[in-house]
Amino acid sequence: MKVLEDSFAFKVGDLDCLVIRDTVSPMDLDLLFPSIKGKEMEGLLDKYHVPRGKVMDVMCLLIRIGQQIVLIDTGWGVNKQPGWGRLIPILRNNGIKPERINTVVISHGHPDHIGGNADAKGKPLFPEARYFMFKKEWDFWTSLPDLKQIEKWVQQEMHAYVRNNLIPLRERFTLVEEKTEFLPGIKFIWAPGHSPYHCILNISSGAEQLLYSSDLIHHPLQIARPECSVFGDFNPEQARRTRAKIISQSSKTNMLVFACHFPFPGLGRINKNGDLLTWQPINTNS
Ligand SMILES: [Zn+2]
Repeated sequence: MKVLEDSFAFKVGDLDCLVIRDTVSPMDLDLLFPSIKGKEMEGLLDKYHVPRGKVMDVMCLLIRIGQQIVLIDTGWGVNKQPGWGRLIPILRNNGIKPERINTVVISHGHPDHIGGNADAKGKPLFPEARYFMFKKEWDFWTSLPDLKQIEKWVQQEMHAYVRNNLIPLRERFTLVEEKTEFLPGIKFIWAPGHSPYHCILNISSGAEQLLYSSDLIHHPLQIARPECSVFGDFNPEQARRTRAKIISQSSKTNMLVFACHFPFPGLGRINKNGDLLTWQPINTNS
């Protein structure tokens, strides 16, 4: 395994994978978990031995499948803030020009996952790529829905990203159903709550599997306490149920999980000790 400052290479079966740290941004836990107050949060972090930290990474995943180079999610894009949306420079540092990306897969239609699809004029940043997305998630966001449960300014921001990063690229998108192997070893699994048709991805090669958990989980505390919903969960109750179910399933199979907002590189397994589930990051030095 190889750790560079902003990327991390690992293997899943025969697949060469690369984590790309698109954005490192400060994030107070009070903002992330608005329903958990300061002292209560301190108590939870102590109780479950969750490290403190005020950053929220946004990471993308690159996978080589034979001749194909597949990118999963595209981060914030370059227009947000200085230091955000570093996907393309990091790809170049790893010797990968944007034109070499054949395929882009989008887990859900939120700005920090679609922002790097296109430049400010809606021109694709991966000119040779075809794009894949779960059909229902595409239909939902591209209808520019009026989201009463979300603050107005957040909705406007979400719609602006959809107008720039999804709609102009319609002809490049193949819209697929869940549980269909749309690329060798890769399927969407519908995991609703954070967004109505939010998907995680199951990636397999030989006997090995990787769960791309997308925004099912944002913070290691949610492994022990899946009922803790975050700012931005569209339907918090549904998000809780989905999270609890998938975390429990993943602990039983001991599969490798990539959590794109966890501390870099976001790879680990879910340990079960009695009734307690905890996040066990992989050892990046081995
Ligand atoms: Zn996200």
